[in-house]
Amino acid sequence: MGRKNIRISRYSHVTKIKLDRNNIAVGVWYTRHGVKRFARASKEIIISTGAVDSPKLLMLSGIGPSEHLKSVGIKPKVNLPVGQNLVDHVVTVLPSVIIHKPLTFDPTRDFGLDTIMEYAINGTGFLSLPGAVAAEGFISTENVRKTGVDWPDMQVYFVTASTCINRRHQGNMGRPDDPKTVVDSKLRVLHTRGLRVADASIMPVIVNGNTNAPAIMIGEKAADTIREYWSEQYLVSPQLSTYAFQKKFTQNKCFYSTISL
Ligand SMILES: Cc1cc2nc3c(=O)[nH]c(=O)nc-3n(C[C@H](O)[C@H](O)[C@H](O)COP(=O)(O)OP(=O)(O)OC[C@H]3O[C@@H](n4cnc5c(N)ncnc54)[C@H](O)[C@@H]3O)c2cc1C
Repeated sequence: MGRKNIRISRYSHVTKIKLDRNNIAVGVWYTRHGVKRFARASKEIIISTGAVDSPKLLMLSGIGPSEHLKSVGIKPKVNLPVGQNLVDHVVTVLPSVIIHKPLTFDPTRDFGLDTIMEYAINGTGFLSLPGAVAAEGFISTENVRKTGVDWPDMQVYFVTASTCINRRHQGNMGRPDDPKTVVDSKLRVLHTRGLRVADASIMPVIVNGNTNAPAIMIGEKAADTIREYWSEQYLVSPQLSTYAFQKKFTQNKCFYSTISL
């Protein structure tokens, strides 16, 4: 990428977050081509390993329900309800329904030589459908409408074979005094410092639609929050006409506070 402020380590699998004795996240262990390595954080660590692996990584690092961690031989460091709220988008397959012949699956038409040639030459036709989804839509079922609210609670795909699933869970974002909360509204893992989670796993309630766009929004919001926090550490003092930021200075301060000049 040619940028000096980012380094991407490909083929790298994070195995554990290192917390020091004050529960400050100081780095991560990872493996790359079978070699165990350690990356030290100069400021903070942001975990974005998704709805299954983020809670897994936290728990492997000792952040999770203490009793459960002990039962699997992990020394608990921070007792939080990590991984307690997995929600799946449930998918069911219905028998074939003919809506309108040109829209529905017809093996003789859809898997014929013509279809293959159309895709090979023009990149169009049945084989170009993403995930074989010919059409989709959102529906408010009777269950929702009888509550007086009209918003979709069902998504319908017209497909040739069933796929699934949107997952989301783990560590709710929420109020720090709520026992179900794992991260606060700035995505900071409670009772730690220098550690955030920014991915689909933090949604307190699953969204009605697909989760990918909301996950991107979470990333954008996290970027804003993090930039705002660190910008405050670099505030120029009008009195001193100098940069207020000094590594030692911020390290001594609480992660949750901002510099007051
Ligand atoms: C089968 C399927 C179909 C879906 N279809 C749709 C759809 O049609 N529309 C839609 O909106 N959403 C869909 N989703 C959901 C969508 O993919 C997720 O909402 C979205 O990807 C969540 O983004 P994320 O950043 O939270 O996690 P992810 O996209 O899962 O990103 C996590 C990343 O972290 C990496 N990672 C994990 N563990 C480690 C580790 N230990 N070390 C290093 N890297 C690690 C993973 O390789 C991955 O690249 C689908 C999901 C699935 C499973």
